Amino acid sequence: MRFDLITIFPEFFVGPLDHGILRRARETGLVDVNIQDLREFTKDRHRTVDDRPFGGGEGMVLKPAPLFEAVESLLGHGVGDAAQPVEQDLKTAIVLLSAAGKLFDQRTARRFAQLDRILFICGRYEGVDERVAANLATDEISIGNYVLSGGELPAMLILDSVTRLLPGALGNEASSQNESFAAPMHRAETELAKNDSPGMPEPAQASAARLLLDFPHYTRPAEYRGWSVPEVLIGGNHAEVAKWRNEAALEKTRRNRPDLLGE
Ligand code: SAM
Repeated sequence: MRFDLITIFPEFFVGPLDHGILRRARETGLVDVNIQDLREFTKDRHRTVDDRPFGGGEGMVLKPAPLFEAVESLLGHGVGDAAQPVEQDLKTAIVLLSAAGKLFDQRTARRFAQLDRILFICGRYEGVDERVAANLATDEISIGNYVLSGGELPAMLILDSVTRLLPGALGNEASSQNESFAAPMHRAETELAKNDSPGMPEPAQASAARLLLDFPHYTRPAEYRGWSVPEVLIGGNHAEVAKWRNEAALEKTRRNRPDLLGE
């Protein structure tokens, strides 16, 4: 899968792409990440990418022309104009990061993971000329109900969450299928396979229908400062462990994210 990051701060991405799963995915060729300096698509000697807002008001706005031209150059073809818009390739997303966009979630990550390519447009200043959202981007995405200084962190966050869903990105495929927000069917199937038992325990069946947070994880030591690992996890009974994990995931979801359960 290919990712293009269009930004006025190309150095921003030095570091975040060089560790762990992302680094391995790049090294093995599972993902190809290209960082595009937006200023290469300016024509004046100050390499101006922004301008004052029509109608007055605070701050500066990213101009449409460098963004349209950067995207067209990366795609290798034009995107048209108001008179003749060009159909976009359905396997490519052009994602505008925006606090005013649709909220990003695991379902969107899964949709993006089916694509061949994602171009990220990282906004700055007061934001981006609206014609980019309306006529260039296929998706206008927010990562949460708060305002950041730029789209670089949001783009990184989406790139990370999509990469780990690509087959082969994680050592163990079951890990992404069994995480928080995993599709209920995936969760159910993984639990069944792990159980190796003829039927799934009741709580697993009940929770499989809902979007749950991950179950709590523990590692050694079994006792730390007087806090013990739940006994059932040490006992070696896989069916009991699966049952406990489903109940614990449900309890944690109820405690931290009751909205997921409609409560
Ligand atoms: N004036 C804008 C508003 O009130 O919605 C905020 C602009 S923000 C300071 C600059 C850029 O940061 C945006 O164009 C966008 O690319 C990015 N950004 C800020 N918050 C974001 C969020 N929650 N999700 C995605 N991108 C965000």
